[in-house]
Amino acid sequence: MATRDYYEILEITRTADDGEIKKSYRRLAMRYHPDRNPDDPGAEDRFKEISEAYEVLSDPSKRQAYDRFGHAGVQGGGGAGGGFGGGFGGFGAGGGGFGDIFGDLFEQAFGGGRPQDSGRGSDLRYELDLTLEEAALGKTVTIEIPSSAPCEVCHGSGAKPGSKVEDCSTCGGRGQVRMVQGFFSVTRPCPQCNGSGKTIKDPCSACQGHGRVRKTRDLEVKVPAGVDTGDRIRLSGEGEAGERGAPAGDLYIQVRVQPHSLFERDGDDLHCAVPVSFTAMAMGGELEVPTLTGRAKIQIAPGTQSGMVFRLRGKGIKGVRSKLHGDLHCRLQVEVPVHLSARQKELLEEFASTTGDQTQHPQQESWWNKAKDFFDRMGL
Ligand SMILES: [Zn+2]
Ligand SMILES: [Zn+2]
Repeated sequence: MATRDYYEILEITRTADDGEIKKSYRRLAMRYHPDRNPDDPGAEDRFKEISEAYEVLSDPSKRQAYDRFGHAGVQGGGGAGGGFGGGFGGFGAGGGGFGDIFGDLFEQAFGGGRPQDSGRGSDLRYELDLTLEEAALGKTVTIEIPSSAPCEVCHGSGAKPGSKVEDCSTCGGRGQVRMVQGFFSVTRPCPQCNGSGKTIKDPCSACQGHGRVRKTRDLEVKVPAGVDTGDRIRLSGEGEAGERGAPAGDLYIQVRVQPHSLFERDGDDLHCAVPVSFTAMAMGGELEVPTLTGRAKIQIAPGTQSGMVFRLRGKGIKGVRSKLHGDLHCRLQVEVPVHLSARQKELLEEFASTTGDQTQHPQQESWWNKAKDFFDRMGL
């Protein structure tokens, strides 16, 4: 309804705290309450506008969504049902950290916010564990969801076949009742029919009138390539069946990528530590390294130092949003040989005796020069 800025409506600044919001709301609600302004037809609209603004700004998660997305973030916020689709509140994340992935099945969490339908099925959350390879390349998985489905006996109506569903007599089928609390009147879901507006005289015996039954079902989910831990896939309407023909909830698939034995993921890049013998590093040559999909060869120059990182362009992960390939970073680490035989010790001793020339260890030379300067300065 209101398209004016909520902060403006409540005559507060964007940094107002909860106390200020409440105080301003009370003051304005008293002033514009329709009962106090019988001669002013504009007062009722104003009162509704104030209530709507208060409903959003007094709720931290709605306020956050409004601050980020404006009215679109809280669409339906002023209606009787109020607020977001059921799923949003359950995650409470405000859309900041989680990424919903688009696609046929995928929608943005703030795709418009749907008014809460009475009897709408619950949202379901499913934690999906993937290996790094599966996450990188995408996968079609079949998941078994404990859920409920529309009752086949009454086709979801909740009424015994042949009997009728009637309008609730308490609310006249509107699903809502108006209650007067002192000065204010508020609209609440009808307690008799829980907001459905319907009464079932003769409940279906298969589902006890709920219109749905417990079931597990298999669902095939196509996980797009490049997902990462924290990504969330929303499958609209794949949650629990609604009560008595009301819409189903949504299914949220929360992706969790398991640690890999070789690769560490950093966004779309991969990191891999490769142990290399000091002789190979000293003499140089070809080195084979693993990639997510196979093998790659890198050429190491003679005298390559430990810690050297080789970047293999495009051998990382293709980002699910960016569609760009990350890189694979291979960090070479010298592995000092252990369990030397007598013969090897002999050879190494002979080798060591030939490397008296410090230019063969340029890092050591420069480091020792710095250390000497330091000792001189300190008079040590
Ligand atoms: Zn039934
Ligand atoms: Zn009712």
